[in-house]
Amino acid sequence: MEFSSKLLERAVNEMSQLPGIGKRTALRLVLHMLRQPKEQTLALSEALQTMRSDVKFCKCCHNISDVELCEICANPKRNKDVICVVEDIRDVMAIENTSSFRGVYHVLGGKISPMDGIGPHQLNIASLVKKVKEEEISELIFALSSTMEGDTTNFYIFKQIKDFGITTSTIARGISVGDELEYADEITLGRSIVNRIPFESSIKL
Ligand SMILES: [Zn+2]
Repeated sequence: MEFSSKLLERAVNEMSQLPGIGKRTALRLVLHMLRQPKEQTLALSEALQTMRSDVKFCKCCHNISDVELCEICANPKRNKDVICVVEDIRDVMAIENTSSFRGVYHVLGGKISPMDGIGPHQLNIASLVKKVKEEEISELIFALSSTMEGDTTNFYIFKQIKDFGITTSTIARGISVGDELEYADEITLGRSIVNRIPFESSIKL
């Protein structure tokens, strides 16, 4: 792609680093920004910069938050002894949208995937095990995608916490094998939390 301006070229190159954005789409977006009022483009750039520098991860559950303790963890009405283990922040948003869950979350930040070079130590697993050891936790609900990586991750965690005498369950009905959680509809996902099943009965030991 030949550019008449180095500034334009740089903006397009940066934009095309985003997932799913090719050079053509990047050019279309950048040209759109040139046409729109300057303030609008500056507002976007300011929002991105501030988000990148100021956003925090909840020190308790690793959810994205503007403060040290996220709104869910800080809410006294949530059951702190029931923890729903999810892969990422999008899963927290999906489950919160169902309004079916009154416990708290633990965001792993991904799932164990040797193919992608992601081992247990790159994920927030140690802090979860520590929580189970040191705090009064009654139940862990595994709400990971039912993919091979999700199953591996569930089982890895289960092995570490099974001797602490807490209930472990996994989301059940309606989430089909291979499904990514964030694509499940709200009713299905809500029902699968309510009708969760004991984790042990979901695995072949
Ligand atoms: Zn939190």
